Amino acid sequence: MEVKCPYCSASFEVPETVATTTCPYCGLTFRLGIEGKALETVPEADHFYFPLCQTDPMEVLMAFLIRQVGVPKDLSQGSVLKKRELHYVPVYFFHIEGRALAESRGGRTTMAEELDNIGIVASEPFTGLLKGYRFPMRGKRYFEERIQSQGIYHKPSFDADIGKKLADQRLREALRKEALESCNNALRFEVEESKVEYRGLVHYPIWSLSYEFRGEVYEGFVDGADGKVILVEHPVSLEARILQITTATAILLTGFVMGIALWTYTPLAILGTLIPGIASSVVLLTRSVKRRVKASETRAMEDEKESIGVEKAMEVLAGLQKPRTPIPDF
Ligand SMILES: [Zn+2]
Repeated sequence: MEVKCPYCSASFEVPETVATTTCPYCGLTFRLGIEGKALETVPEADHFYFPLCQTDPMEVLMAFLIRQVGVPKDLSQGSVLKKRELHYVPVYFFHIEGRALAESRGGRTTMAEELDNIGIVASEPFTGLLKGYRFPMRGKRYFEERIQSQGIYHKPSFDADIGKKLADQRLREALRKEALESCNNALRFEVEESKVEYRGLVHYPIWSLSYEFRGEVYEGFVDGADGKVILVEHPVSLEARILQITTATAILLTGFVMGIALWTYTPLAILGTLIPGIASSVVLLTRSVKRRVKASETRAMEDEKESIGVEKAMEVLAGLQKPRTPIPDF
């Protein structure tokens, strides 16, 4: 049957049997009456959770790892699960909407618009790990008491009002970034409209795992609701490291030889060949020195600054006490 969202008026299809639904456009969750008529949203019913997907997180992790470049061939067979913890992480959900103007020196104006559903993570060890994480909107359920005794339950470390301020900040940053990207040398930037709508507190399942391979322990995090690998450390095989060192040396030598050859004609050309050669081989060499690297299914790992928050999360989570309550088996 077709239902209409009481907030944004969007129409969408839901199965006949459901009693509640979440709007795929603005993230509002509401109860359904007869023939799909939206009933009023209950103000106190703003606490949700995401149910676990029925797959073993360690299997998910290994299936992802064996597809990574440079992973030892026997990683899956040679790894032993050391830790498997389920965390319920508090996240405030918001629907954000905004418009901004940027004016360039020439008087040209650019308009920036944002329309999104975002999650503000409200538990310190996870803020770095889940920075900018795309949480799913649909599939959440009204909170049940039993969730508190499944795995490690984290209470929010700040209230929804602070969450709202952070969401507003994120909206303004996104608008500024978008406006200034299309209008360089902007003289003026102004947010014309910004709207942040609270969509409830969601307890989101995150698996924290560690596995041992040839005497070394590696950490990993898996999204408990959709089974995606958020972040995982893995060893790099000796063959892969040798290959990288060989490639890097070859690039370096090529740059050097070409630089020498050109030196007699134009000494400046050495800057054009040798320096890029050195730069790219230094990147390869520093990567090959590392025996362990990080991989992710949900974010780009190139930015080293991004990983600082992640290191901290790993440190904090490794030191957390073990859950006293049982977590589901697979
Ligand atoms: Zn809606």
